[in-house]
Amino acid sequence: VPVTLTLPFDNSYARLPDRFYAHVAPMKPPAPRLIRLNRPLAEQLGLDPDALASEAGLQILSGREVAIGSQPIALAYAGHQFGHFVPQLGDGRAILLGEVVDRDGRRRDLQLKGAGRTPFSRGGDGRAALGPVLREYVVSEAMAALGVPTTRALAAVTTGDSVMRELVLPGAVLTRVAASHIRVGTFQFFAARGDQDALRLLADHVIARHYPEAAEDPHPYRALLDGVIARQASLIARWLQVGFIHGVMNTDNMSIAGETIDYGPCAFLDAYDPEKVFSSIDQNGRYAFGNQPRIALWNLVRLAETLLELLDPDGETAVKIAEAALEAFGPQFEAAYQAGLRRKLGLSVERAGDAELAGDLLTAMSANQVDFTLFFRRLAAAQAPDAGEPVCALFVDPTVADAWLGRWRQRLADDPQDPAARAAAMNRANPAYIPRNHRVEEVIRAAVDRDDFAPFERLLAVLAAPFEAREADAAFETPPTPDERVMATFC
Ligand code: AMP
Ligand code: MG
Ligand code: MG
Repeated sequence: VPVTLTLPFDNSYARLPDRFYAHVAPMKPPAPRLIRLNRPLAEQLGLDPDALASEAGLQILSGREVAIGSQPIALAYAGHQFGHFVPQLGDGRAILLGEVVDRDGRRRDLQLKGAGRTPFSRGGDGRAALGPVLREYVVSEAMAALGVPTTRALAAVTTGDSVMRELVLPGAVLTRVAASHIRVGTFQFFAARGDQDALRLLADHVIARHYPEAAEDPHPYRALLDGVIARQASLIARWLQVGFIHGVMNTDNMSIAGETIDYGPCAFLDAYDPEKVFSSIDQNGRYAFGNQPRIALWNLVRLAETLLELLDPDGETAVKIAEAALEAFGPQFEAAYQAGLRRKLGLSVERAGDAELAGDLLTAMSANQVDFTLFFRRLAAAQAPDAGEPVCALFVDPTVADAWLGRWRQRLADDPQDPAARAAAMNRANPAYIPRNHRVEEVIRAAVDRDDFAPFERLLAVLAAPFEAREADAAFETPPTPDERVMATFC
């Protein structure tokens, strides 16, 4: 009886030279169990969901067997962790199974996270605990539904093994899907070794795979740098518009393709606060909510440094070229961020004073501990002069909200959209449901403590359609009560 599947892999990264990765074999877990298969995603990838959900599929998704067509590898990369350069990190608990070309013709990586040690594991065990696997599943799928570029979750399995952390925890494996797993740190890995041949191969691979328009440019490597900068500027603006805090924006956790990647101690804001930090490992607030644009630029400077020789082999103008490219980040981020704020505020055209109107609101929200998601979701119904109460009630000092609403309504009078169309547009920009930290925590507690995955399934269902408020899901809109509030998140 064949116990393995054939998957339609085409492994372009494994065709790169051997120093880009290590060949590895996943560990064989003792008693794998399928927790969830993302069937719509499987179909989009051109894979057969029934086959993946079968006993043979479970073997592949748990790492017990290697699919025919798969060439499991662990990728080499370096990275700045909290500002400190580590010349070798690499996939220490992740194994790339291979690449498939999806129904839209896009190449996507399939990776197992938590399938055992690799040559890059250093002191680590190569494993993942169930809690972080569920968090990544929930949050990455929520981000996708919110329209934010992100890696996806194809499957979660438990292994039947225990993982030693501060506590003994159930082990799990996540199957992650990404445009690629190439990071800023991948470029840094070769730059740190002075390996220009590898840098050129890597840059050419990335251009062909993610930035094909750069291949047509007279300066392809400059166009590559421009492209990565533009995608990051747009991505970080999207994060800020939904209240997402990545938590560990190290250069090894920044995707070259522009997707949100490596969900660790990430979190969503409840009350708006630019200085908010949840991650227990971020002691100095380097990766605080409002610092994320600055850190993205810092990371992009690190990327540019690795490209200098490709930008100008003679070295004379390389730094100037890189600086000119990097200068675009600020304006691009600001433009994307302001456009997003206008959508949230229901402003269909741009007028002088819009940035100030939005900025004053955010300052007031921060001073009044206003729930970010709830405020914007309620705002659409506060257009009429007598309809402000539900919004004002979110402020410690409701008179502040009342004054701001007056300014906002005045601005709406100068906007061409009619109120009904505006309300509909606002409700497409302002989600009712985000993966609130206390809900994610509740999901993890039920699964880990009681082997109960019903809350996980329920939360996933709620978050799959975040812009459409439903009576039955009203409880998922509300912020945590003081004793439900999550103070810190852990990897
Ligand atoms: P992260 O902070 O999760 O992005 O991981 C940073 C680095 O540590 C990467 O090289 C990971 O592969 C590695 N790493 C994290 N957790 C483990 C683990 N349990 N075993 C081996 N390596 C790990
Ligand atoms: Mg090879
Ligand atoms: Mg990482």
